[in-house]
Amino acid sequence: LDKIERLDRKLADLGIKIRKDEDSRKVTGEVFDETTLLALYKLVNKKVISSIGGSISTGKEANVFIAGRTGKTGEETGAAVKIYRLRTGNFTTMSEYILGDPRFSNIRRTHKDIIFAWTKKEYSNLARTREAGIPCPEPLAFDRNILIMEFLGEDGIPYPQMRQKLPKSPEETYQDAVGLIRDLYQKARLVHGDLSEYNILTGADGLILIDMAQAVTPEHPKAYNFLFRDIRNINRFFAPKCKTTDEHDVFRNIVGE
Ligand code: ADP
Ligand code: MN
Repeated sequence: LDKIERLDRKLADLGIKIRKDEDSRKVTGEVFDETTLLALYKLVNKKVISSIGGSISTGKEANVFIAGRTGKTGEETGAAVKIYRLRTGNFTTMSEYILGDPRFSNIRRTHKDIIFAWTKKEYSNLARTREAGIPCPEPLAFDRNILIMEFLGEDGIPYPQMRQKLPKSPEETYQDAVGLIRDLYQKARLVHGDLSEYNILTGADGLILIDMAQAVTPEHPKAYNFLFRDIRNINRFFAPKCKTTDEHDVFRNIVGE
């Protein structure tokens, strides 16, 4: 049996179905390594999710899948499973090169540890954002490099990103987006750090923040740089669509200086 076939079997043992087209076979091999399978196995055993379905997104560092979940009252609802990849296409070559070098003998462990910490950080940031009453997916669980969160969408279709759809007029949506940055800073004491029209979804009730692993507290030495960049990204997106406030004024208004 080739490697991918073995992984397919393991996934099937877990009750996890992965579509069999070429694309997802490639994804299967790159994403579901032994460590990830074990983490997934634990999450299925704990009944956080009951099945895993199609791919929602393949990003630079993570893949997002839709999953089945049984809610508190027994109803079938959705979850989003974000898996930070432990290896990439050329990982084998990388590790062969690195593991043979005594100066880098612990680099693989460090690399994994960083990814696990990153996953946990995204979970904590989402929890903190929700506690402050700011719209973002509810974090449900995490294990190693896997984060399980509420699925944001309808009938199995994820909500569009803000770049694809605005919930209101450009002027009103711009104010809402700036309001999210302000609330995140003032109420949750967080700076998103990677905010853009890609990391805000347009839900049924308006804008929703996602992708928060890199978010930092105001004490972080680069917090102000990140905040300013977030504001600039939002202004850049809205500038061709409506009147925007000067980025320095938005910044001062948010930090209160
Ligand atoms: P990346 O680090 O790869 O950018 P994101 O967290 O931004 O990861 O997720 C990638 C894409 O997956 C998002 O742009 C969005 O379209 C979709 N997505 C992420 N989280 C959810 C969710 N909870 N529900 C529905 N779709 C989601
Ligand atoms: Mn993203």
